[in-house]
Amino acid sequence: MNNSKDLPLLRVENLTKHFRIERGFPKSVTYTVKAVDDVSFTINKQEAFGLAGESGCGKSTVGRCVLRLIEPNSGRVSLGDMDVLALGKNELRIMRKKMQIIFQDPYSSLNPRRTIGQTLEEPMYVHKLYPKNDIRQVAEGLLESVGLSPGAIDKYPHEFSGGQRQRIGIARALLFNPELIVADEAVSALDVSIQMQILQILKDLKEKLSLSYLFISHDLAVVRYFCQRVAIMYLGKFVELGTVKQIFDDPLHPYTLTLRNASPIPDPMVKQEFAELKGEVPSPISPPSGCHFHPRCPKAMDICPKEYPTWTEQGEGRGVACHLYT
Ligand code: SF4
Repeated sequence: MNNSKDLPLLRVENLTKHFRIERGFPKSVTYTVKAVDDVSFTINKQEAFGLAGESGCGKSTVGRCVLRLIEPNSGRVSLGDMDVLALGKNELRIMRKKMQIIFQDPYSSLNPRRTIGQTLEEPMYVHKLYPKNDIRQVAEGLLESVGLSPGAIDKYPHEFSGGQRQRIGIARALLFNPELIVADEAVSALDVSIQMQILQILKDLKEKLSLSYLFISHDLAVVRYFCQRVAIMYLGKFVELGTVKQIFDDPLHPYTLTLRNASPIPDPMVKQEFAELKGEVPSPISPPSGCHFHPRCPKAMDICPKEYPTWTEQGEGRGVACHLYT
Protein backbone atom coordinates (compact mmCIF):
# COMPACT_ATOMS: atom_id res chain seq x y z
CA MET A 1 0.00 0.00 0.00
CA ASN A 2 1.20 3.51 -0.81
CA ASN A 3 1.95 5.64 2.19
CA SER A 4 1.32 9.33 1.36
CA LYS A 5 4.85 10.06 2.72
CA ASP A 6 6.23 7.94 -0.15
CA LEU A 7 4.33 9.86 -2.82
CA PRO A 8 6.29 12.12 -5.12
CA LEU A 9 5.61 15.79 -4.47
CA LEU A 10 4.29 16.34 -7.98
CA ARG A 11 2.81 13.75 -10.31
CA VAL A 12 1.89 14.70 -13.87
CA GLU A 13 0.06 12.08 -15.91
CA ASN A 14 -0.77 12.20 -19.62
CA LEU A 15 -0.85 15.99 -19.67
CA THR A 16 -2.11 17.39 -22.96
CA LYS A 17 -2.58 20.95 -24.16
CA HIS A 18 -3.68 21.67 -27.72
CA PHE A 19 -4.19 25.19 -29.07
CA ARG A 20 -6.43 26.03 -31.98
CA ILE A 21 -5.05 28.77 -34.18
CA GLU A 22 -6.35 30.40 -37.33
CA ARG A 23 -4.12 31.19 -40.28
CA GLY A 24 -4.77 32.70 -43.71
CA PHE A 25 -6.53 35.69 -45.21
CA PRO A 26 -9.20 36.32 -46.43
CA LYS A 27 -10.12 32.66 -45.94
CA SER A 28 -8.76 31.42 -42.64
CA VAL A 29 -8.01 27.82 -41.82
CA THR A 30 -8.07 26.46 -38.27
CA TYR A 31 -5.09 24.38 -37.16
CA THR A 32 -4.49 22.42 -33.99
CA VAL A 33 -1.10 22.85 -32.38
CA LYS A 34 -0.22 20.02 -30.01
CA ALA A 35 1.88 22.15 -27.68
CA VAL A 36 1.97 19.43 -25.01
CA ASP A 37 1.05 15.92 -26.05
CA ASP A 38 0.60 13.23 -23.44
CA VAL A 39 3.54 13.89 -21.11
CA SER A 40 4.02 12.19 -17.73
CA PHE A 41 6.61 12.70 -15.01
CA THR A 42 7.06 13.02 -11.28
CA ILE A 43 9.09 15.37 -9.10
CA ASN A 44 10.28 14.16 -5.71
CA LYS A 45 10.64 16.23 -2.60
CA GLN A 46 13.78 18.35 -2.72
CA GLU A 47 14.46 17.40 -6.33
CA ALA A 48 15.28 19.66 -9.25
CA PHE A 49 13.64 18.16 -12.33
CA GLY A 50 14.72 19.63 -15.65
CA LEU A 51 12.66 20.13 -18.79
CA ALA A 52 14.94 20.77 -21.73
CA GLY A 53 14.57 21.24 -25.46
CA GLU A 54 14.77 23.85 -28.17
CA SER A 55 12.50 26.86 -27.92
CA GLY A 56 8.93 26.17 -29.01
CA CYS A 57 9.04 22.52 -27.89
CA GLY A 58 6.28 23.05 -25.30
CA LYS A 59 8.29 23.05 -22.09
CA SER A 60 6.95 26.39 -20.81
CA THR A 61 3.41 25.26 -21.61
CA VAL A 62 3.96 22.24 -19.35
CA GLY A 63 4.96 24.57 -16.50
CA ARG A 64 1.96 26.80 -17.00
CA CYS A 65 -0.44 23.85 -17.18
CA VAL A 66 0.98 22.42 -13.94
CA LEU A 67 0.25 25.76 -12.24
CA ARG A 68 -3.06 26.08 -14.09
CA LEU A 69 -2.04 29.45 -15.48
CA ILE A 70 -3.43 27.87 -18.61
CA GLU A 71 -5.90 25.01 -18.52
CA PRO A 72 -4.76 21.74 -20.06
CA ASN A 73 -7.14 19.75 -22.30
CA SER A 74 -6.65 16.56 -20.38
CA GLY A 75 -4.40 14.67 -18.00
CA ARG A 76 -3.88 14.69 -14.29
CA VAL A 77 -1.68 16.84 -12.04
CA SER A 78 -1.33 15.87 -8.37
CA LEU A 79 0.52 17.83 -5.71
CA GLY A 80 0.89 15.34 -2.87
CA ASP A 81 -2.59 13.87 -2.65
CA MET A 82 -4.28 16.99 -4.10
CA ASP A 83 -5.85 16.69 -7.55
CA VAL A 84 -4.79 20.08 -8.93
CA LEU A 85 -6.95 20.04 -12.06
CA ALA A 86 -10.10 19.34 -10.04
CA LEU A 87 -9.68 22.32 -7.68
CA GLY A 88 -12.29 25.08 -7.54
CA LYS A 89 -11.37 28.78 -7.48
CA ASN A 90 -10.78 29.06 -3.73
CA GLU A 91 -8.86 25.81 -3.41
CA LEU A 92 -6.78 26.83 -6.41
CA ARG A 93 -5.78 30.02 -4.61
CA ILE A 94 -4.53 27.95 -1.67
CA MET A 95 -2.73 25.52 -3.97
CA ARG A 96 -0.97 28.41 -5.77
CA LYS A 97 0.74 29.30 -2.51
CA LYS A 98 2.39 25.89 -2.58
CA MET A 99 3.50 26.20 -6.21
CA GLN A 100 5.14 29.41 -7.38
CA ILE A 101 6.81 30.51 -10.59
CA ILE A 102 9.96 32.46 -11.40
CA PHE A 103 9.94 34.03 -14.86
CA GLN A 104 12.77 34.74 -17.27
CA ASP A 105 12.10 38.48 -17.07
CA PRO A 106 11.15 39.49 -13.53
CA TYR A 107 11.10 43.16 -14.54
CA SER A 108 7.90 42.72 -16.54
CA SER A 109 6.16 41.25 -13.49
CA LEU A 110 7.38 43.93 -11.03
CA ASN A 111 5.26 47.06 -10.79
CA PRO A 112 7.66 49.94 -11.65
CA ARG A 113 5.66 52.36 -9.44
CA ARG A 114 5.94 50.27 -6.29
CA THR A 115 8.93 49.82 -4.05
CA ILE A 116 10.21 46.32 -3.49
CA GLY A 117 8.89 46.57 0.07
CA GLN A 118 5.37 47.31 -1.20
CA THR A 119 5.58 44.43 -3.66
CA LEU A 120 6.68 41.96 -1.00
CA GLU A 121 4.63 43.24 1.93
CA GLU A 122 1.19 43.63 0.38
CA PRO A 123 0.51 39.90 -0.15
CA MET A 124 1.55 39.27 3.46
CA TYR A 125 -1.01 41.85 4.68
CA VAL A 126 -3.76 40.62 2.35
CA HIS A 127 -3.30 36.97 3.30
CA LYS A 128 -2.60 37.80 6.98
CA LEU A 129 0.55 35.70 6.85
CA TYR A 130 2.24 37.40 9.81
CA PRO A 131 1.35 39.88 12.57
CA LYS A 132 1.32 43.38 11.00
CA ASN A 133 4.30 44.57 13.00
CA ASP A 134 6.47 41.69 11.81
CA ILE A 135 5.82 42.02 8.08
CA ARG A 136 8.56 44.49 7.23
CA GLN A 137 11.11 42.40 9.06
CA VAL A 138 9.97 39.27 7.20
CA ALA A 139 10.32 41.14 3.86
CA GLU A 140 13.84 42.24 4.79
CA GLY A 141 14.68 38.66 5.78
CA LEU A 142 13.46 37.42 2.39
CA LEU A 143 15.71 39.91 0.62
CA GLU A 144 18.66 38.80 2.74
CA SER A 145 17.93 35.14 1.92
CA VAL A 146 18.54 35.95 -1.77
CA GLY A 147 21.68 37.98 -1.08
CA LEU A 148 20.21 41.51 -1.16
CA SER A 149 20.67 44.02 1.61
CA PRO A 150 17.59 44.92 3.69
CA GLY A 151 18.04 48.48 2.37
CA ALA A 152 16.79 47.29 -1.02
CA ILE A 153 13.31 47.32 0.42
CA ASP A 154 12.74 51.05 -0.24
CA LYS A 155 14.03 51.03 -3.81
CA TYR A 156 12.13 50.75 -7.10
CA PRO A 157 12.65 47.98 -9.70
CA HIS A 158 14.52 50.26 -12.15
CA GLU A 159 17.24 50.79 -9.53
CA PHE A 160 18.35 47.15 -9.78
CA SER A 161 20.35 45.16 -12.32
CA GLY A 162 18.87 42.14 -14.12
CA GLY A 163 20.49 39.72 -11.66
CA GLN A 164 19.24 41.69 -8.66
CA ARG A 165 15.72 41.80 -10.10
CA GLN A 166 15.82 38.03 -10.51
CA ARG A 167 16.78 37.78 -6.82
CA ILE A 168 13.71 39.89 -6.02
CA GLY A 169 11.64 37.55 -8.20
CA ILE A 170 12.92 34.62 -6.13
CA ALA A 171 12.19 36.44 -2.85
CA ARG A 172 8.64 37.07 -4.03
CA ALA A 173 8.23 33.38 -4.98
CA LEU A 174 9.23 32.46 -1.42
CA LEU A 175 6.56 34.62 0.24
CA PHE A 176 4.13 31.78 0.83
CA ASN A 177 6.68 29.10 1.76
CA PRO A 178 6.09 27.11 -1.44
CA GLU A 179 6.89 23.42 -1.85
CA LEU A 180 7.53 23.61 -5.58
CA ILE A 181 8.93 26.37 -7.76
CA VAL A 182 8.54 26.39 -11.52
CA ALA A 183 11.65 28.17 -12.78
CA ASP A 184 10.90 29.07 -16.40
CA GLU A 185 14.16 30.03 -18.14
CA ALA A 186 14.94 31.76 -14.85
CA VAL A 187 18.62 32.39 -15.64
CA SER A 188 18.54 32.47 -19.44
CA ALA A 189 18.61 36.25 -19.80
CA LEU A 190 21.55 36.72 -17.42
CA ASP A 191 25.31 36.87 -17.98
CA VAL A 192 27.01 33.58 -17.20
CA SER A 193 28.67 34.82 -14.00
CA ILE A 194 25.34 36.14 -12.70
CA GLN A 195 23.67 32.88 -13.78
CA MET A 196 26.01 30.98 -11.46
CA GLN A 197 25.13 33.24 -8.52
CA ILE A 198 21.40 32.78 -9.08
CA LEU A 199 21.77 29.00 -9.51
CA GLN A 200 23.73 28.86 -6.26
CA ILE A 201 20.97 30.77 -4.46
CA LEU A 202 18.35 28.36 -5.86
CA LYS A 203 20.50 25.41 -4.77
CA ASP A 204 20.98 26.78 -1.27
CA LEU A 205 17.25 27.45 -0.91
CA LYS A 206 16.50 23.91 -2.05
CA GLU A 207 18.49 22.54 0.87
CA LYS A 208 17.43 25.13 3.41
CA LEU A 209 13.70 25.15 2.65
CA SER A 210 13.34 21.59 1.24
CA LEU A 211 12.18 23.05 -2.08
CA SER A 212 11.56 21.18 -5.31
CA TYR A 213 11.94 22.70 -8.76
CA LEU A 214 10.50 22.19 -12.20
CA PHE A 215 13.45 23.76 -13.97
CA ILE A 216 12.69 24.73 -17.55
CA SER A 217 15.64 25.66 -19.74
CA HIS A 218 16.95 25.50 -23.28
CA ASP A 219 20.51 25.61 -21.87
CA LEU A 220 21.73 22.06 -21.34
CA ALA A 221 24.83 23.03 -19.38
CA VAL A 222 22.64 24.77 -16.82
CA VAL A 223 20.26 21.80 -16.60
CA ARG A 224 23.21 19.47 -16.17
CA TYR A 225 24.63 21.60 -13.39
CA PHE A 226 21.38 22.18 -11.51
CA CYS A 227 19.07 19.18 -11.93
CA GLN A 228 18.96 15.58 -10.73
CA ARG A 229 16.68 14.23 -13.46
CA VAL A 230 15.71 15.63 -16.83
CA ALA A 231 13.14 15.11 -19.58
CA ILE A 232 14.02 16.05 -23.15
CA MET A 233 11.12 17.48 -25.16
CA TYR A 234 10.64 17.70 -28.90
CA LEU A 235 7.53 19.18 -30.51
CA GLY A 236 5.28 18.70 -27.51
CA LYS A 237 6.41 15.21 -26.55
CA PHE A 238 8.95 13.73 -24.18
CA VAL A 239 11.53 11.82 -26.22
CA GLU A 240 13.73 10.75 -23.29
CA LEU A 241 13.71 10.92 -19.51
CA GLY A 242 16.33 9.85 -17.01
CA THR A 243 18.82 10.97 -14.42
CA VAL A 244 21.17 13.75 -15.48
CA LYS A 245 24.01 11.20 -15.43
CA GLN A 246 22.12 8.80 -17.73
CA ILE A 247 21.03 11.51 -20.12
CA PHE A 248 24.43 13.16 -20.43
CA ASP A 249 26.77 10.17 -20.07
CA ASP A 250 24.75 7.68 -22.10
CA PRO A 251 21.97 9.35 -24.13
CA LEU A 252 19.71 6.90 -25.96
CA HIS A 253 17.59 9.09 -28.22
CA PRO A 254 19.39 10.50 -31.29
CA TYR A 255 17.98 13.96 -30.46
CA THR A 256 19.37 13.80 -26.92
CA LEU A 257 22.70 12.63 -28.31
CA THR A 258 22.81 15.56 -30.74
CA LEU A 259 21.98 18.02 -27.97
CA ARG A 260 24.56 16.48 -25.66
CA ASN A 261 27.23 16.66 -28.36
CA ALA A 262 26.39 20.30 -28.91
CA SER A 263 26.89 20.93 -25.19
CA PRO A 264 29.83 18.74 -24.19
CA ILE A 265 31.17 20.77 -21.27
CA PRO A 266 29.22 20.44 -18.00
CA ASP A 267 29.87 24.03 -17.06
CA PRO A 268 27.20 26.74 -17.09
CA MET A 269 30.00 29.30 -17.34
CA VAL A 270 30.49 28.11 -20.94
CA LYS A 271 27.63 29.06 -23.29
CA GLN A 272 26.61 26.10 -25.48
CA GLU A 273 23.06 26.28 -26.74
CA PHE A 274 22.28 23.64 -29.34
CA ALA A 275 24.95 25.29 -31.46
CA GLU A 276 25.59 22.32 -33.73
CA LEU A 277 22.09 20.99 -34.15
CA LYS A 278 21.35 20.71 -37.87
CA GLY A 279 18.12 21.99 -39.40
CA GLU A 280 15.22 23.99 -38.04
CA VAL A 281 12.63 22.76 -35.58
CA PRO A 282 9.65 21.84 -37.81
CA SER A 283 6.47 23.88 -37.46
CA PRO A 284 4.27 22.57 -34.66
CA ILE A 285 1.29 23.40 -36.92
CA SER A 286 2.21 20.52 -39.22
CA PRO A 287 4.78 18.31 -37.50
CA PRO A 288 6.49 15.63 -39.58
CA SER A 289 4.65 12.30 -39.81
CA GLY A 290 5.72 9.35 -37.66
CA CYS A 291 8.61 10.28 -35.39
CA HIS A 292 8.64 14.08 -35.49
CA PHE A 293 12.43 14.08 -35.36
CA HIS A 294 12.92 11.92 -38.49
CA PRO A 295 13.82 14.74 -40.97
CA ARG A 296 16.77 15.68 -38.71
CA CYS A 297 17.69 12.24 -37.43
CA PRO A 298 20.96 10.67 -38.59
CA LYS A 299 19.64 7.21 -37.64
CA ALA A 300 16.19 7.39 -39.28
CA MET A 301 14.90 4.07 -40.61
CA ASP A 302 12.06 3.15 -43.01
CA ILE A 303 9.56 2.88 -40.18
CA CYS A 304 10.37 6.31 -38.71
CA PRO A 305 8.26 8.54 -41.03
CA LYS A 306 5.38 6.06 -40.81
CA GLU A 307 4.82 5.42 -37.12
CA TYR A 308 5.34 7.45 -33.96
CA PRO A 309 7.53 5.31 -31.65
CA THR A 310 5.98 4.12 -28.40
CA TRP A 311 7.48 5.09 -25.06
CA THR A 312 9.57 2.23 -23.68
CA GLU A 313 10.99 1.86 -20.18
CA GLN A 314 14.77 1.41 -20.17
CA GLY A 315 15.35 0.45 -16.56
CA GLU A 316 13.89 2.02 -13.47
CA GLY A 317 12.70 5.56 -14.06
CA ARG A 318 14.28 5.81 -17.49
CA GLY A 319 12.34 5.93 -20.74
CA VAL A 320 12.74 6.76 -24.42
CA ALA A 321 10.50 7.12 -27.49
CA CYS A 322 12.53 5.85 -30.46
CA HIS A 323 12.17 2.92 -32.87
CA LEU A 324 15.78 1.96 -32.17
CA TYR A 325 14.56 0.63 -28.79
CA THR A 326 11.24 -1.00 -29.70
FE1 SF4 B 1 15.49 8.72 -35.28
FE2 SF4 B 1 13.68 6.92 -35.93
FE3 SF4 B 1 14.46 7.14 -33.40
FE4 SF4 B 1 12.97 9.03 -34.52
S1 SF4 B 1 12.38 6.93 -34.12
S2 SF4 B 1 14.75 9.34 -33.27
S3 SF4 B 1 13.75 9.06 -36.59
S4 SF4 B 1 15.70 6.50 -35.14
